[in-house]
Amino acid sequence: MTACIIDGKAIAAELRIKIALEVRRLAAEHRLVPGLAVILIGDNPASEIYVRNKARATRDAGMQSSVHRLSGATTQRDLLALISDLNSNAAVHGILVQLPLPPHIDAQAVIEAIEPAKDVDGFHPLNAGRLAIGLPGLVPCTPLGCIMLAKTIHPSLAGRDALVIGRSNIVGKPLAQLLLRENATVTIAHSKTKDLPAVSRRADLVFAAVGQAHMVRGAWIKPGATVIDVGINRVPGAGGKPRLAGDVAYSEAREVAGAITPVPGGVGPMTIACLLANTVRAACTIIGVSTTL
Ligand code: NDP
Repeated sequence: MTACIIDGKAIAAELRIKIALEVRRLAAEHRLVPGLAVILIGDNPASEIYVRNKARATRDAGMQSSVHRLSGATTQRDLLALISDLNSNAAVHGILVQLPLPPHIDAQAVIEAIEPAKDVDGFHPLNAGRLAIGLPGLVPCTPLGCIMLAKTIHPSLAGRDALVIGRSNIVGKPLAQLLLRENATVTIAHSKTKDLPAVSRRADLVFAAVGQAHMVRGAWIKPGATVIDVGINRVPGAGGKPRLAGDVAYSEAREVAGAITPVPGGVGPMTIACLLANTVRAACTIIGVSTTL
């Protein structure tokens, strides 16, 4: 069997068209232009690319984008002061601090300084708590994108055995919460899980969010299962030039799975599209209007 390839790029492009239409409607009906502020600290080249892509996508959707580039030597106090300004800026509806942060800055303190209503990454403990107890709130973008991709194959996830490999606060845990919300039967695996290949072979859906290139082998996949690969790893490619690889051994898994996301072109584009959707949702909640998103 050769798996159906879940084209995250195309699915994200469709979502971005929907978002742009909603942005036009909000401008016409409510004079609302959602605004996203992104803070980038230091000169991590991967972060620079992510931030540039997020800013471009925000503008392309007709929203207001601002990027605050700070030196790697910025103090935590100065960063918190900037966040405080953005929290009270009425033109800014979403605030995102690009991770990772330099080691002298306490990432948790930064996350907690963002006004929860503007926390478009969904990392603030208030939003994480609301997700955990089933209340509406801002939900992390990558897990949201994973669910949307899985639902292109299984419109209902109810009763399906879903395995999430990885338990980070930004991917694994919120993804597991979203799967529970969809009534899937959820297993969360991590570095202490025993016999992960056997656990994986029982799953109808495998979500790999580990950060280790090609860790999930073809032999770990139940025939016909859906595989969503969150991993973004830089590995040596042809001629020693770095290329991106997922957490799943794609060429093996593709022969066994029913459906699979590629890397690149799977979860990554969905993350950006979901960030735009979260910014629109945040703007609508803040000014008290409903949204079709
Ligand atoms: P973290 O490093 O925060 O978490 C990795 C998780 O994987 C941990 O829970 C860890 O377990 C678990 N793990 C590590 N080794 C093993 C192992 N051998 N067996 C089972 N579990 C293991 O990573 P993130 O969640 O932040 O990111 C995961 C991947 O997703 C990365 O490649 C990252 O680049 C990518 N990513 C992609 C995004 C996108 O837009 N596509 C967005 C965000 C992340 P333990 O808790 O026990 O240590």
